[in-house]
Amino acid sequence: MTAHANPKNLIPGATGDWEVVIGLEIHAQVASNAKLFSGAAVGFGAPENSQVSLVDAAMPGMLPVINEECVRQAIRTGLGLKAKINYRSVFDRKNYFYPDLPQGYQISQYKSPIVGEGEVTVDLSPTESFTVGIERLHLEQDAGKSIHDQSPTLSYIDLNRSGTALMEIVSKPDMRSADEAKAYVTKLRTILRYLGTCDGDMEKGNLRADVNVSVRKPGDAFGTRCEIKNVNSIRFIGQAVDYEARRQIGIIEDGGTIAQETRLFDAGKGETRSMRSKEEAHDYRYFPDPDLLPLEFDQAYVDDLAKHLPELPDAKKARLIAQYGLTPYDASILVLEKESADYFEAVARGRDGKQAANWVINELFGRLNKEGHDVTASPVTPAQIGGIIDLIQAGTISGKLAKDLFEIVFTEGGDPAAIVEARGMKQVTDTGAIEKVIDEVIAANPDKVEQAKAKPTMLGWFVGQVMKASGGKANPGAVNEILKTKLGIE
Ligand code: ADP
Ligand code: MG
Repeated sequence: MTAHANPKNLIPGATGDWEVVIGLEIHAQVASNAKLFSGAAVGFGAPENSQVSLVDAAMPGMLPVINEECVRQAIRTGLGLKAKINYRSVFDRKNYFYPDLPQGYQISQYKSPIVGEGEVTVDLSPTESFTVGIERLHLEQDAGKSIHDQSPTLSYIDLNRSGTALMEIVSKPDMRSADEAKAYVTKLRTILRYLGTCDGDMEKGNLRADVNVSVRKPGDAFGTRCEIKNVNSIRFIGQAVDYEARRQIGIIEDGGTIAQETRLFDAGKGETRSMRSKEEAHDYRYFPDPDLLPLEFDQAYVDDLAKHLPELPDAKKARLIAQYGLTPYDASILVLEKESADYFEAVARGRDGKQAANWVINELFGRLNKEGHDVTASPVTPAQIGGIIDLIQAGTISGKLAKDLFEIVFTEGGDPAAIVEARGMKQVTDTGAIEKVIDEVIAANPDKVEQAKAKPTMLGWFVGQVMKASGGKANPGAVNEILKTKLGIE
């Protein structure tokens, strides 16, 4: 079971080391314009109860009609998770009462989900990865939302979310630390975003995790798990795992036992607390929904979706390394978001890949970070960055001036070559002009010239003076060469 019983994951306790075991159930809202069984629109921030069809409001006699786009998205996600696609699956009613669930049941998939076992390669660092098994993926409806804070005596119900399609993606209990759980969610989210099957927006609740945690002594059988419901940020998932592992270890070391239960994460306190015990858990009385036929499609349908799948992050990373000579580190940063990799490739086409990566990651991303923008909001286009790189390559500007030029392009826009021309930023390669500046610097510093003869590292000081005197425009290579000759340094 323990493919990677890593000593660095062990948690020291009073009775020896412990290992935490984690399995995640991710609820990912399907990227689709309409709901799973109705034509009502899906959207965040619309006025309350403005996106509710008669089906979503569970009016008597309404019939659900499956939205084919949601089915396609679930299959495409399954393919991206290298999972078994089930050509026949069944929608079941999961019966329970909740004020924001007017049907009195949720349509979900129980014994026959649309997607079976698969796997995700999870990156711990640019060169280290491990595999998390996927147990299943099924389609289900989301519930509405109860609003308790707008009246002292009343609760309100907003059914906009009611009936929205969710993919529940259930992992195997294959993670062994908070970092591994965080890395898994990060990677899964990236894959979903590449596929365009879920926008991964955790702040809007479009991707949320039920975090199952147990502890054991290394080598022992799995312990009893607790399930922490609806954790909605990657950082909170890490905090919930760490807190919960400590709590369980404390109970067992004090001679107690873990009761299987559902818990909530309190982000303010960084703690988990009990919500309901498994004994109180509902009997959902699942049964196949008589209003819906089993969902069936053939292999040709799946093959066609597979053929049109985009290049996914792992394949893209390998290709960027092979095609552009990038380091695994640079490649792993660029593939985190598809838009970043696309941007990079637009710059790198026909140019030096490493230099392009360096400009995109260090200069552009660094600068965008400062502004709190992501690459899609970049004021600088790939063509503009490419233009700056071309000017360096042609020897028209030095690396230092290129950074100044980048700042101008970032804040003011414009064509890099035209800016260099208009502002006289061209590098001086005319040796006559450079020599003149060098002669002036040497004449002004006779004492330093004497020192340099004995101490050749003084050359750097001279180079600095000459660059300064030339306004940063002298070609540094030429300055070095001419200075060495004039100072008589080898
Ligand atoms: P349920 O429907 O009761 O939540 P599931 O079979 O769907 O049960 O499993 C839920 C999750 O719990 C899965 O992600 C699985 O990997 C995880 N899990 C199962 N056993 C353990 C365990 N001992 N420790 C931690 N996680 C576990
Ligand atoms: Mg569960």
